[in-house]
Amino acid sequence: MVGQNPVFIPGPTNIPDRLRQAMSLQTADHRAPDFVDLLGPLLEDLKGIFKTGTGRVITFPASGTGGWEAAITNTLSPGDTVLVARYGMFSHRWIDMCRRHGLDVEVLDRPWGSGAPADLFAERLAADRARTIKAVLVTHNETATGVRSDVAAVRRAIDGADHPALLLVDCVSSLASMDFQMDAWGVDIAVTGSQKGFMLPTGMAIVGVSDKAMAAIPSARCPRCFFDFRDMVAANDEGGYPYTPPLPLLHGLRASVAMLGEEGLEAVFARHFRIAEGIRRAIAAWGMTLVAHSPDLYSDTVSAIHVPPGFDSNTLTDHAYHTYGVSYGIGLGPLDGKVFRIGHLGSMTDVMALSGVATLEMAMADLGYPITLGAGVAAAQDYYRATVTIPKQKAA
Ligand SMILES: *Cc1c(COP(=O)(O)O)cnc(C)c1O
Repeated sequence: MVGQNPVFIPGPTNIPDRLRQAMSLQTADHRAPDFVDLLGPLLEDLKGIFKTGTGRVITFPASGTGGWEAAITNTLSPGDTVLVARYGMFSHRWIDMCRRHGLDVEVLDRPWGSGAPADLFAERLAADRARTIKAVLVTHNETATGVRSDVAAVRRAIDGADHPALLLVDCVSSLASMDFQMDAWGVDIAVTGSQKGFMLPTGMAIVGVSDKAMAAIPSARCPRCFFDFRDMVAANDEGGYPYTPPLPLLHGLRASVAMLGEEGLEAVFARHFRIAEGIRRAIAAWGMTLVAHSPDLYSDTVSAIHVPPGFDSNTLTDHAYHTYGVSYGIGLGPLDGKVFRIGHLGSMTDVMALSGVATLEMAMADLGYPITLGAGVAAAQDYYRATVTIPKQKAA
């Protein structure tokens, strides 16, 4: 029965029944006309999720990491300078990938728990008179620390320096859960995956691409083949895929976009905020603190929480898993053993969030944490009761 429990890891996320059903298909011919009917409208509707009118959306059978690779290899050449701040495991891993592709990565190391430093980017870009920096890379929501960065501020930093660098953004754990505005923020490439806000299994990289990024392709010399935007765009424009498409995932994505549309994107964001805020109240009631340094940085999709001195966060997550059959995120990199994470994105309701808080309390009480059973649950309940609106959510 533990298989019925929700997961509280920040991806892959819980899959609603409706999406599981949408993916349960007999094999179909991806060269038949009905594939054209599936793909074209889907790619068009995805633009609404990225909030882009002028860009286009490209999908690959891959995880989010494949989307990172597509973003850099289609627009950059070995030896190009890119500017990135490192403030968590995901920004770190994208930096590592850039280095392995021969890019010259200028890293601004920032404390974990802080966000993208738009002010430092502005200084560095203004000083780059020779315009050697070809791209600025930003992780919108750093899943390791539960920090959301201000991408619009990074765009202002680039524009303030009148700098032509591309803005490449990882929105893997934010898109379709927290507000993301590709056009308004001047994002050139936005990378996500199917297994977070879209509530699907892992297996698709979903990438928003601006005209400016498309224009950079011919001069970009990073080797690429599977991830070449040009092959995908040419095939998509004919209603097809350059190789065999992940058909069940595309049907799942069709249904996911429909679900997000029915709830309304802004309502989806509001739901994520409410659920996250209730969990933050619970964390405060436990007397524990977030890794994120200040409220303006709080992520509405994942909370990273310090355990009290003398406790090991891995013991807590192991205990919750083995005793109660519930998964929470572990601390990554330097946060290993010191931090655990609650993923609260995607298919998530008050009821689910309360079960996650309550189960953590049991696990913490078992391990002698200085908490009172029910304190966090009560804090979350108070907040949810005070802010609930009669749900028009149907059984989904
Ligand atoms: C999950 C995640 C990724 C991508 O991970 P994959 O396992 O390759 O899908 C990248 N960046 C962030 C911020 C993430 O949360």
